[in-house]
Amino acid sequence: MSEPRPRPEVAGMKGYHSPQVDVRVRLNTNESPEAPPEGFGAALAERLARIDWNRYPARSAGELRSGIAGLHGAAAENVFAANGSNEVIQTLLLTYAGPGRRVGLFSPTYALHAHIARIVGSEVVTAPRGPDFALGAGEAATFVAAERPDVLFLCSPNNPTGTVEDPRTVQVALEAVADYGGVLVVDEAYVQFSGREPGRFSAVDLLGRDAPLVVCRTFSKAWALAAVRLGYALGPAGIIDELHKVVLPYHLDVMTQEIGLLCLTDAAAADRRAADLVAQRERLAGRLAQLPVEQWPSGANFILFRPTGRDGAVVWQELVDRSVLVRDCSSWEGLAGCLRVTVGTPEENSLFLEALADVLR
Ligand code: PMP
Repeated sequence: MSEPRPRPEVAGMKGYHSPQVDVRVRLNTNESPEAPPEGFGAALAERLARIDWNRYPARSAGELRSGIAGLHGAAAENVFAANGSNEVIQTLLLTYAGPGRRVGLFSPTYALHAHIARIVGSEVVTAPRGPDFALGAGEAATFVAAERPDVLFLCSPNNPTGTVEDPRTVQVALEAVADYGGVLVVDEAYVQFSGREPGRFSAVDLLGRDAPLVVCRTFSKAWALAAVRLGYALGPAGIIDELHKVVLPYHLDVMTQEIGLLCLTDAAAADRRAADLVAQRERLAGRLAQLPVEQWPSGANFILFRPTGRDGAVVWQELVDRSVLVRDCSSWEGLAGCLRVTVGTPEENSLFLEALADVLR
């Protein structure tokens, strides 16, 4: 009997993992360090008590999508909600990429963009970011014109570098894909940490009926709901309709929809939480500046840094030995020697700084 074999593009691939080591201070997956406010569980229990458990959930998640649309001055027809922004990205790629199509990205960036693109059978084309991970409008336009990707990703603030994209680069990338029928996906998972509204640039400002643009957001970071799996895309109704054809029926279960609706009753909470974390991030950056590490300015809830004169992977292990877990990016392309620390509670940040100072002494 012969073994069943997966498709070749799957067989040859590594899975996507972040090690979950048992430590005291876990700063490796960019979650919110604080849980939703007290009373959240009780309010949710009240909502769940009214559910018809024997019925399928609202298939189009209309109420939730309207609520999310309201955050952005959009309409429900401009919102696609799914199980985390990873499922949003997967659905986008199943719809607009796949065999015979290309997906473009600027590396280093969030690994799942390329990972899912390959799983669905697309070719991945990449261009490196410039010094300090910046991406100029001219370089972006040249790459897009040469490669003509069907789907082009930008991630702003970018994971894992923390880089906030220049608005002009986003605008020019959008014009470039519009030229030949591509779609630009801007992943804004960390946008709340990049400044305050009004004034904060978001690709949402560029959305329009005829713009081939989709913006992805998540409830996993500033909304403090990583356990739930809720994310969404904003885009023109025509694109959102196509995504609804592809995603499984009833993909968003009733509890996820209820939790999303409950969160939206305090829509300012995500920005408030983000402001506290930004203050902590600046404290971390200030202290890192006194240690033998190179770091990059971040508009997200994490900081990328590189110990100078010490091997990144060894420093990572020595931090684990002190019960502190950060993300080891040292073997990722373009990130030799780099580590990424998620901003935690003030106490967690202090423990991280103490441990790092001790390791680098
Ligand atoms: N986009 C980016 C840039 C991320 O870093 C992450 C999570 N690490 C996601 C999307 C996925 O978030 P989720 O699926 O939890 O919404």
